[in-house]
Parts: sequence; structure tokens; C-alpha cells
Amino acid sequence: MIKTLGLILKKQSIGETDRIITILSPSLGKKRVVARAVRKPLSKLSGHLDTFMISQLILTDENELPKVTSAVLVESFESLRASLPLVEQAYAISKITERVILEDVPQQTMFRITVDALSRIDEGVAWPNVWLRYLGEVTKQLGLQLGDFTCRICGKKITDTAYWDQLERGFTCTSCPAKIGRQLSVQAIKVLFLLSKQQYVVVQRAKLNQQVASEVEEVLLREITEWFNRPWTSYRGLGNQS
Ligand SMILES: [Zn+2]
Repeated sequence: MIKTLGLILKKQSIGETDRIITILSPSLGKKRVVARAVRKPLSKLSGHLDTFMISQLILTDENELPKVTSAVLVESFESLRASLPLVEQAYAISKITERVILEDVPQQTMFRITVDALSRIDEGVAWPNVWLRYLGEVTKQLGLQLGDFTCRICGKKITDTAYWDQLERGFTCTSCPAKIGRQLSVQAIKVLFLLSKQQYVVVQRAKLNQQVASEVEEVLLREITEWFNRPWTSYRGLGNQS
């Protein structure tokens, strides 16, 4: 028997009354498990295995599709799960988490980052702030955080609008002749700087203008999703106002 916490990422019905459930576990990573008879009216498991719940699970020892023998709800994220807009926010988070996490490999950090984002959604924290913080944490986890805020040609500190070259992973200032990459507003660069320094308190308090939030989202999503098989735009969390 294996005991683990599991965040329920998704569920899929099989057979008459069973379900295959994809969980994120701090110790097992992404794992597909079977919940037998969970769709029967009196199932003891059913109230503990819904999407975006965290439960303490006991699993059988099989490596492939272990069965859930017991589930005890630890966190229900009740406000989140009762609101359709909040559920959509949670899906934006879980869509990325699911692509980033590995199967059968411990994923303590991604578990923490994901649960942290869901808790903030549940508490009603402004969505752009939760989302950008989450994306910032994921880039850090993947070793893709923006670290150098100096011009890669002249070496000057970036204090104004500048160009971000994703290929070279560096900024170029507007005084230098080579303008490669996408131009970012000074406000977006400032938010990226705060996220890279993990000054979340400042980011959290900042009233993020929609345009700036979208710019930051695009930079971070392009970094994270570069090797995904779908374009960054299909992972957007801030609407499609481009
Ligand atoms: Zn320069």
C-alpha cells in the first residue's frame, strides 16, 4: 500500500461505475489511478475524488493504474469549485501543471506551486496577480526565469522600454542598433523584474493594468510552453484581447 496526498487534476469515466483519475502527488508526480465503483450512489470514495480536491489517498502497489482503496478529503477549495469563472482559472493553472510534471517522479515543488495558486484563487485574490505569480514560479522551477536585466549589447541597465529576444534570452536597449525580439513596455519589464526577484508582495499589491498583464503573460508563457506541442496562445489565462 502507498499513502500519498493527491490533488485531483482530472477524471475520466470507465466501465459502468469506475473512474480513472489523474492526480498530482508530491511523492509520485503525475499518476493515473483507478477509483472502483466511485460512480455508485453510495460510494465512500465519491465525495473525496472530485477535480481540484486534495485528498489523502491509499493506493494499491501496482505501478500501472493502482487502485484507490481509501480517500480522505484534506482540502475541498469549496469557493473555487462553486464558481464557474474560478474553475476556469483553476483549469488554466492545471493545464500547465499537467504538461510540466513528470510521471512517477517526485514533484514537491510543482505540487506546492499549484496548490498555492489554487488556494489564492479560492481566497479570491485578483486573478492576473495569481496567474503571473504562478507563471513566474513555473519559469523558475524550469530554470527559465528572466535573470539579467541589462542590455546584452552595451551592458547598460534596462530602465526603459526594451526588446526581449527569446532565442538569446536577453534584452537589448533602444539605444543599441540591433533591435531583435519583441518590444516590451517599461511597466511590463518592471513586473518581470519583480517576479524574477520573487517580490510577490509588491506584485500582489500592484494594480495590474490589463495591457501590461497580457505582455507579461506572453513573455512567461512563451518561455514555459516552448517545447509543448501546442502554441503558447492555447495556454492563455487572461482572455484573447490581442
Ligand atoms: Zn544597449
